Amino acid sequence: MVTSIEKMTQISLKWRKEGQKIAFVPTMGYFHEGHLSLMRLARKKGDRLVVSVFVNPTQFGPQEDFEKYPRDKKRDIELAKKEGVDVLFCPSKEEMYPPEYQTYVEVTELSRPLCGESRPGHFRGVATVVLKLFNIIRPHLAVFGEKDYQQLLVIKKVVQDLNLSVEIVSHPIVREIDGLAMSSRNVYLSSEERKSALSLFKSLKLAQELVKKGERNSDKIRKIVRDFILSHPYTKIDYIELRDPKNLIEKKEISGPTLLAIAIFVGQTRLIDNIILEID
Ligand code: AMP
Repeated sequence: MVTSIEKMTQISLKWRKEGQKIAFVPTMGYFHEGHLSLMRLARKKGDRLVVSVFVNPTQFGPQEDFEKYPRDKKRDIELAKKEGVDVLFCPSKEEMYPPEYQTYVEVTELSRPLCGESRPGHFRGVATVVLKLFNIIRPHLAVFGEKDYQQLLVIKKVVQDLNLSVEIVSHPIVREIDGLAMSSRNVYLSSEERKSALSLFKSLKLAQELVKKGERNSDKIRKIVRDFILSHPYTKIDYIELRDPKNLIEKKEISGPTLLAIAIFVGQTRLIDNIILEID
């Protein structure tokens, strides 16, 4: 495990000099199978694998769960070892954001809708920390999960707009056997809430069925999905949105691949999931 930025950069620069391809997976830790799958993909694509564990304070709102976000460094170290991670980079808050810190990265348009609307400042924090991590780790490629679809687009935009030489690789959503998308936040769910949380995945399937049967009207799909989710106890809708998967522009009609992105609360826990609806 490396905690110092200076040490991390030294290691990376040495690997680069040796001509080794550095693959990187940024995470907030508390590993689950989703994280491990990203690591396996990164492992295959690079000669060296760096994984960061950093619960990034700048991407949490003041009323959000930064303090109680699940953490288990010892377990993460064990799991990373098993996956053949070369360096687990775990900087402190102070190492990443010293008191005089004042620079932020903002992706103006892609950060606006969906999670950007419900979580003001979230993507500014994400874009900032990822750019910092890229500068520290100097990866040739970085792997991100499609579970955080908007985040993936935001990061791709940072790379494009700021001319970074990092290849962004995406990994499909990894799910529990019953379909619930894996998330560190799933530990917050009581067993009753866990049952209701499954409505999120089921609603994506339901929407896919509707489209298969010929439904093309986004409002109708949204209403059916909403009613379905709300028929389960403890659920509250944050958003249900149908958007162009390339630029997140709203789609009134399903006229090609369409991103259905959903955020709900189950009790106090906020969960997100998504699917690309395809017309056969
Ligand atoms: P996190 O630790 O939640 O910030 O996630 C770190 C990385 O793992 C991000 O690129 C996420 O998109 C990805 N990730 C988290 N959960 C999943 C999942 N269930 N399937 C695929 N990728 C995931």
